[in-house]
Amino acid sequence: MRKKIVAGNWKMNLGYEEGVSLFSEIVNMVRDEKKGDQQAVICAPFIHLNSLVQLGNSIVAIGAQNCHQNESGAYTGEISAKMISSVGAEYVIVGHSERRQYFSEDNQLLAAKTVVALENGLTPIFCIGETLDERNNGSYFDVLKTQLEEGIFNVSTGQFSKLVIAYEPVWAIGTGLTATSEQAQEVHAFIRQQIAAKYDAAVAENTTILYGGSCNPKNAADLFAQPDIDGGLIGGASLKSRDFVDIVKTFNS
Ligand code: PEP
Repeated sequence: MRKKIVAGNWKMNLGYEEGVSLFSEIVNMVRDEKKGDQQAVICAPFIHLNSLVQLGNSIVAIGAQNCHQNESGAYTGEISAKMISSVGAEYVIVGHSERRQYFSEDNQLLAAKTVVALENGLTPIFCIGETLDERNNGSYFDVLKTQLEEGIFNVSTGQFSKLVIAYEPVWAIGTGLTATSEQAQEVHAFIRQQIAAKYDAAVAENTTILYGGSCNPKNAADLFAQPDIDGGLIGGASLKSRDFVDIVKTFNS
């Protein structure tokens, strides 16, 4: 049985006290909801990680939103996977479309980040997704296939089994436009087929694949009911405790 995950991505929001307060609310609300194969995660800015782990990572796991591709060294201002792991965080988002777009992160760099995250015991949440042009001109399967092949298909089967994938169509992120559950399911099934072809059917069956892009308490149930959608990566709605927890609760209803 693959893990069901609802992961919040706070992005570059919330001062220290605001983050602690929102996380405390989420932990208190999720406490009674937690079920066996289901995990809530909050991917917070670096300044929050240590405190959030202390506050409740046994209930809601903690992740970072990025890491550097090297282990350590003279990279002023950067944070390594080892540092993230050292505070007890368990996840890291790799390849979010905002990192690809605003920080020119390409598949080769993201492949290096994925490996360093795995080597330091973190679970990468590896994001792939097509732009609106790529969806409209029909090239999106090729784009997604290349992102998978160049970004994560270079790791061993053992390492791959620790990864989570997030399908996030760029045109749906922060826009209020959600992929329909049919559009999302079509892509998730495609991703699973690609994994089966590269690794094997069992690895594909066990890989958690999240949907991200304007997911909210109203559309989550429809999306998560699809056979190949194993949860969500949630941006805007993760900044409101009620909305985020309602999305987490979708698995229980
Ligand atoms: C995201 O940034 O990963 C995301 C899915 O954002 P939103 O939910 O706001 O579209």
